[in-house]
Amino acid sequence: MHFNGYLFLMDERNLKSMAVQSLLKRVKSKVISREEISELGIKTDTDPEAAKIMGLKNIDGGFVGENCGIMEPDLLASYYVRELENMGGVEFRYNTNVTRLNLSPRTKLNFPGEPFIWQDKIIESIETKSSELFADHFLLATDVWTSDLTSPLGIDPFTQPKKVQVFQVQSNGIVEMMKKKVTGEEDIFPFTILPGPSIDLRPDPKSRTFWVSYSEGIGRGFSLEENPMAEADYYSNNLYPVLREYIPAFEDARIMSSWAGYYSMNNMDGTYVLERNMNLSVVTGSSGSGIMKADAAGRLASSLYSGKEKAKLYGGAEIRVADLGITTRRVDQETLII
Ligand SMILES: Cc1cc2nc3c(=O)[nH]c(=O)nc-3n(C[C@H](O)[C@H](O)[C@H](O)COP(=O)(O)OP(=O)(O)OC[C@H]3O[C@@H](n4cnc5c(N)ncnc54)[C@H](O)[C@@H]3O)c2cc1C
Repeated sequence: MHFNGYLFLMDERNLKSMAVQSLLKRVKSKVISREEISELGIKTDTDPEAAKIMGLKNIDGGFVGENCGIMEPDLLASYYVRELENMGGVEFRYNTNVTRLNLSPRTKLNFPGEPFIWQDKIIESIETKSSELFADHFLLATDVWTSDLTSPLGIDPFTQPKKVQVFQVQSNGIVEMMKKKVTGEEDIFPFTILPGPSIDLRPDPKSRTFWVSYSEGIGRGFSLEENPMAEADYYSNNLYPVLREYIPAFEDARIMSSWAGYYSMNNMDGTYVLERNMNLSVVTGSSGSGIMKADAAGRLASSLYSGKEKAKLYGGAEIRVADLGITTRRVDQETLII
């Protein structure tokens, strides 16, 4: 993990908001000035005409979350794979698609058409293309793909797939920007969120590029394709006009590569949904923050699976598993979805 900080660029109203003032007291963070932001290569006063057309904002300062940064999730996942393999008793089956959850009566009568409405039900097995696997309990951590497996059973995961695209962009100016920093030991540009539209720029120190992304609201339908692709027009018509107004280094920048994926959106409150039905536990709805919340989600999933009432989070705080359930839900609205 590189602690290069998250830099939220803001107008004065947002800088003075209760949320920012409270964060400044509670977490390792600071505010940087317009001058410091200009030093990073970001324009604080946008062109009035462009600002009017695109709803751009002037930048009066930046809130820096210093205990934040960037990491490579693949490395973290590989670490846990190794740990689990060393522990023993865990077998990973890669490239094995589960096609179906088989619903059965708890006590079989062996009549055609089982299970009937009056029978107690369980998931007896799951099917893959070449095998059927049996277990006492099943846990789905399939995030955006959960509905494919649960909908045929009448279990609604209350999440929708939202496509998010990433463009890896470079120019000579961006290479120069990469040498600057606002916090941390290393010379790494902060993960930066523009004030509006809140496009985010993730620095990639190795390639000295920015990964540019934006989490869309209205206008981006919910859909799930097998191999989602980034749309070049989306960059040139939507992101580029905004980027070049705030950051001159984007004017002549080139797209080096691009990719797309899905947020598993819980559109009620923007955070995880954990639900247990019969012998099936479901953890889904990471809503674009499943890396940041992975540790907490894993602890909650473990408690859900074990039938414990609460989960103890990393900092020692306890949380009721039912608070993230569907009918027993009691969570605040997630306000930080980048
Ligand atoms: C472009 C982009 C940028 C993001 N950036 C961030 C970020 O900066 N910070 C952050 O916290 N989060 C970020 N996220 C969100 C984050 O990637 C997800 O929340 C996280 O990966 C969820 O982890 P997961 O293990 O629950 O699900 P996934 O990583 O989606 O894993 C689910 C797994 O289940 C498997 N699976 C699904 N269906 C089946 C089936 N039927 N049979 C067998 N296997 C199946 C899939 O193959 C997959 O391996 C980003 C997402 C995108 C798309």
